Amino acid sequence: AENVGGGDKEVVREYFNNSGFQRWKKIYGETDDVNKVQRDIRLGHSKTVENVMKMLTDEGSLQGVTVCDAGCGTGCLAIPLAKEGAVVYASDISAAMVSEAQKQAKEQLQITNDDQSPPPTMPNFEVSDLESLKGKYDTVICLDVLIHYPQSQADGMIAHLASLAENRLILSFAPKTFYYDLLKRVGELFPGPSKATRAYLHAEADVERALRKVGWKIKERGLITTQFYFARLVEAVPA
Ligand code: SAM
Repeated sequence: AENVGGGDKEVVREYFNNSGFQRWKKIYGETDDVNKVQRDIRLGHSKTVENVMKMLTDEGSLQGVTVCDAGCGTGCLAIPLAKEGAVVYASDISAAMVSEAQKQAKEQLQITNDDQSPPPTMPNFEVSDLESLKGKYDTVICLDVLIHYPQSQADGMIAHLASLAENRLILSFAPKTFYYDLLKRVGELFPGPSKATRAYLHAEADVERALRKVGWKIKERGLITTQFYFARLVEAVPA
């Protein structure tokens, strides 16, 4: 559902097709043209991806498991999931992100001649906002997307994502802890040029309440922090 009077989504889409695309493609990439802060965020984010992969593989093989990666960005998670044999449906509101993810997947999932293992299935990439996603997946994952939306919109997004998942829903978000809230307030004294660069923090209790409202409970929690990157990771299952 479109938010009333909000318009965050259009701003976010426009940002991630333009300047946000350039910025995040660098952060999520491997090139050296990043500053100290960007390098730190790159590290934090890669730890989040590693944590998610560990959460999943600890629970069993991903071979043939259907996974919806909502807001897939440049494919940082979709590609390792495909390598583990998951059947991945990856989508993003930004067409620029989706085409970059497609390019990365082609490069990284290419079959080498000496490789004996079965070739991974290419993720199914699509341009779509998460609110428009349909179908059922074993696992739904949405990493570092809620940060672009206030809790009033995040509630509906969480409910929709849960409705697509049969067994697991994994979310990451910037936690609204006292320390981080303070940092953010300081940041607001020097507002950026774009609304999309604004970060919305979410209290873990609010996310948990949104999940409980639709019959889900948190099974596992993780916290990933570096100097400039903070993410609370939750794995939810039907209650
Ligand atoms: N999940 C990816 C990852 O962790 O590597 C990308 C995270 S990036 C900070 C946020 C992504 O969410 C961007 O690619 C953006 O285009 C996408 N996004 C933002 N709002 C969205 C929405 N409503 N539906 C789908 N994607 C969205």
